[in-house]
Amino acid sequence: MRPENLRVTLPAVIALGGNLGDREATLRDAVADLARTDGIIVDAVSSLYETDALKPDGVDLSAPAYLNAVILVRSALQPLELLDVLHTVEKAHDRVRVEHWGDRTLDLDIITFAGLEYHDDALTLPHPRAFERAFVLAPWHEIQPNATLPGHGPITPLLAATYESPRLYSRWER
Ligand code: ATP
Ligand code: CA
Ligand code: CA
Repeated sequence: MRPENLRVTLPAVIALGGNLGDREATLRDAVADLARTDGIIVDAVSSLYETDALKPDGVDLSAPAYLNAVILVRSALQPLELLDVLHTVEKAHDRVRVEHWGDRTLDLDIITFAGLEYHDDALTLPHPRAFERAFVLAPWHEIQPNATLPGHGPITPLLAATYESPRLYSRWER
């Protein structure tokens, strides 16, 4: 490797979800988009899990179900730069923001970034609701069972304390 190509990277965990359109194709495309982004290395991808849609009032069985996955990356991008990339990939997959927690083709969230605890208008780390979301914790646990969530501890008991059970939908095949 040439010295000028050496870059410092930090580990991050990204959650993917979507409940409109061809959900599986969208999630696979989004992982491919991230993997070919300069400054992002994708180290691991979970299986795809299916979960009933959660709305502000609770589970909504009339809404299409979500497919979710989690990936482990190494990022040479800073957290806000990474968030920008996620928003660009969401837009490329026709994500429109209408209602809060509304149906969407693609949602990409940063779950953790290098153990940082951080908050501003654009970004909160770790993701403030990840600790209670089975659709994040189950796929994450599959690929990193010893992970911890800053401020909340190991994810194994966090996952055990959730109520929903994401259904294994399909294994990841490259
Ligand atoms: P939730 O945050 O409960 O998962 P959501 O993903 O549906 O809800 P969005 O409408 O996708 O919410 O995002 C709203 C804003 O949240 C984004 O524009 C982004 O600036 C901000 N945000 C704050 N922290 C994070 C994070 N860790 N990952 C992604 N977005 C974040
Ligand atoms: Ca989200
Ligand atoms: Ca989001």
